[in-house]
Amino acid sequence: MVALGAALKGGGLSGGASVALEAVTKRYGTETVVAGVSLAIPAGEFFTLLGPSGSGKTTTLSMLAGFVIPDEGRVVMGGQDMTQVPPRGRGLGMVFQNYAIFPHLNVAENVAFPLTVKGAPKAEIQARVAEALAMVKLTGFEARYARQLSGGQQQRVALARAIVAHPRIVLMDEPLGALDKNLRFHMQVEIKEIQQRLGMTAIYVTHDQEEALTMSDRIAIMDGGRIAQMGPPREVYEKPDSRFVAAFLGEANLLDVTRDGALVRGPGGGAIEAGAGQGTTLFVRPEKVTVSAAAPSGGPNQLPGQVLHASFLGNVVRYAVDVGQGATVLADAVNGPGAVLHAPGAPVTLHWRAEDSRLLAA
Ligand code: ADP
Ligand code: MG
Repeated sequence: MVALGAALKGGGLSGGASVALEAVTKRYGTETVVAGVSLAIPAGEFFTLLGPSGSGKTTTLSMLAGFVIPDEGRVVMGGQDMTQVPPRGRGLGMVFQNYAIFPHLNVAENVAFPLTVKGAPKAEIQARVAEALAMVKLTGFEARYARQLSGGQQQRVALARAIVAHPRIVLMDEPLGALDKNLRFHMQVEIKEIQQRLGMTAIYVTHDQEEALTMSDRIAIMDGGRIAQMGPPREVYEKPDSRFVAAFLGEANLLDVTRDGALVRGPGGGAIEAGAGQGTTLFVRPEKVTVSAAAPSGGPNQLPGQVLHASFLGNVVRYAVDVGQGATVLADAVNGPGAVLHAPGAPVTLHWRAEDSRLLAA
């Protein structure tokens, strides 16, 4: 595999190219589906557009691909303005969820397709198809047709076809959407490995937050045609700027707090200290909240409450704790050595560190 990677690099592969969108807008009728999106992706980055259905991910990717021309703004690749360049002239690799492989062509012919249409020499096509199939671990499947392949194998063929021409940029729109969970995980690892080995710039679309967190160098979270927040996985997960981002990226406690001059008070009146922010919604992830049978000791970020539910998930116990005033806090406790289970009805004290929490706008 190492030798193969080296051979591909020697064979004219030159890593990734940078990609930028500059204030790009797309309207359909009166609806603005992408609203002034700007982003700059350095060469070789794995960049993910994450967001709910209808947030404008596919439209954004389609403008990068050249299938959709923006009403305003510019698309720049490798420093060149590509806004008006048709898809074929952009030299991209693409994998789409519903961009199935051609049923009338076998695996080798499917993978060869981008080179065949370019009229590449036969020997070169053969060598590159063999390389691409080895990368997706489908050597030996050359003569099969789509109907003789599993869903995962078909997606691997689509991936091989996307990389066979050694593109500097690969666009992927929910490529694993049709696969079951185990296969998804397996393919996530493979896609990431191939992308890193070839040094390609990858722009990936998904609505699955775990997939985005595991695969990406940076994530842009889209909401209503805009980028709500952009950053490395850990940053957007741990330091969301809004309720929307906090809730979209996983379980989040979002508690109403009140301000009393410089003091912030939680449900029940306890003092709150937060890591950052100015709003009146307190954000803290369940895994950052500890549950203790001891009474509050008087410090900040201690909420007395009563266990409502204790869900035993095996490695983790997820507590829902009633902290008064109709508010419930979720707390995940690792089921580690000597872990104590707090039964429903038990009085407990919740605690978290100031730096693990933020105040968001309501
Ligand atoms: P996502 O991929 O995040 O689910 P899309 O980019 O596909 O979102 O769509 C964003 C919005 O734009 C949706 O409301 C969708 O209905 C609308 N839309 C997308 N393509 C078209 C089109 N060709 N004509 C009209 N509306 C469209
Ligand atoms: Mg889509």
